[in-house]
Amino acid sequence: MSELINKKVVIIGSGPAGLVCALSCCQNGIEPSDMLIIERESEIGGTLNQCIHSGFGKSYLDEVVTGTELASMLSDGIRQLEIEYITDSTVLSVDKQKRIRVVSPKYGYCTIKAESIVLAMGCREKTKGALQIGGTRPAGVFSAGAVQRIVNIKGYMPGKRTVVLGSGDLAMIVARRLVLEGGRVVCVCEPKPYAEGSDENIKECLDDFDIPLYCSHSVTRILGKGRIEAVEISHVDKRGKIVKGTAKRVKCDSFVYQCGLVPENEIIKDTGIRLDTRTRGAYVNQYFETNVRGIFTCGNAVRIHDLVDYIVEEAQVVGSAVKRYLDNKTEKPERVIRIKNGERILYSVPQHIDVYDDIEDCVIYFRVNGKYKNLLITVKKDGEVIYSREKGSMSWLETGKIQLTRELAEKIGDAKEIVICASEKEDGANIDNNGEDKE
Ligand SMILES: Cc1cc2nc3c(=O)[nH]c(=O)nc-3n(C[C@H](O)[C@H](O)[C@H](O)COP(=O)(O)OP(=O)(O)OC[C@H]3O[C@@H](n4cnc5c(N)ncnc54)[C@H](O)[C@@H]3O)c2cc1C
Repeated sequence: MSELINKKVVIIGSGPAGLVCALSCCQNGIEPSDMLIIERESEIGGTLNQCIHSGFGKSYLDEVVTGTELASMLSDGIRQLEIEYITDSTVLSVDKQKRIRVVSPKYGYCTIKAESIVLAMGCREKTKGALQIGGTRPAGVFSAGAVQRIVNIKGYMPGKRTVVLGSGDLAMIVARRLVLEGGRVVCVCEPKPYAEGSDENIKECLDDFDIPLYCSHSVTRILGKGRIEAVEISHVDKRGKIVKGTAKRVKCDSFVYQCGLVPENEIIKDTGIRLDTRTRGAYVNQYFETNVRGIFTCGNAVRIHDLVDYIVEEAQVVGSAVKRYLDNKTEKPERVIRIKNGERILYSVPQHIDVYDDIEDCVIYFRVNGKYKNLLITVKKDGEVIYSREKGSMSWLETGKIQLTRELAEKIGDAKEIVICASEKEDGANIDNNGEDKE
């Protein structure tokens, strides 16, 4: 091991979460020389670097830019402030004592001792194994994120004739990119009876490019020796079961699948940080601090976000919380309020509120467990509704927000627990609910 480096703040990951958090730390008075950002890729910017499409920064910048533009704005800010960052550097592990083991071209294999750590490692794609597709294992099978990366960053095409499985926004954006680069997308298959992504992307990425979308269809076999030659596509019922006798062979030279994202938290298994089985990220308080004092987390490492705007909000909160922690390490909360997930709530973040002098203004983010038309969001204390808001239609793909205002804080009072619930108003028919709470 080459050397021991000491830093006040170490941020792991340089996507929008890590970079905005670094900028916020400086705005809150932390010296740039006391900070270090560690990134395993050769450029800072994270996932934004492969998102050459527009749709980023709406509330942060007051204008919509491409992912790459947002990445370069944030990176310029980091360079202007002279915040140190190391690239091509991978964090191998973090422990309770806030020691970070890193392999980097600049420092070799070294240990960095931090006073405070921000975990901003983003997420990774689930692998094809999760799909359990039969057939052979030829070349030419890619995850959607990998294709986005090799096409947009490396400049290669995965094939000329592609079948896509999954209709989330990422899959649709990738399908369009393949067509724009001269390839043909034979079809996008979606096992659910409806598309997963936004209506805007169905129009702009599929309809406008004549890419057929087959809902209630899945890829059930991959065929080919050495290189993929075809896939088998079958009709599936509402429960995802293959309808016998419907299989059709479709010729292709590449197959792209999107089967979900999971927060990237493997490096923290020795820290004792408690993970939420719903979000797969850490349990956090309203400052995105984990149960290990001084270790914070933000971005897709906490939960999978639909929009960068929410990541920016969180990262700014973390920046000021890190400063507060450094100035007052022995501060302990007077009490804790647990936030429980009631009916139709998939998860909520933070999972608890640490009350110091008073309950401070903060935001509770949540997702529902299905796709609903007419929702009423409530907060309950001891079974009594203390907050309610009509939300209209909402699906599990979107983030909902509850602003914990002074007025709501007064109603919460000295409660130990509050429950977030979503109920359907009479006239709102349930569209689908992922198999939970079926009517
Ligand atoms: C195809 C696609 C389209 C999208 N479209 C939009 C959109 O239109 N509008 C919008 O607002 N949002 C969009 N998003 C969402 C948004 O881009 C992401 O949610 C956001 O970039 C995640 O930010 P992050 O900082 O949490 O993670 P990332 O950007 O993924 O950054 C995490 C970084 O941590 C690094 N890292 C991980 N582990 C380690 C380690 N052990 N050591 C060192 N470094 C490590 C990674 O290399 C990575 O650079 C889109 C996302 C995708 C994939």
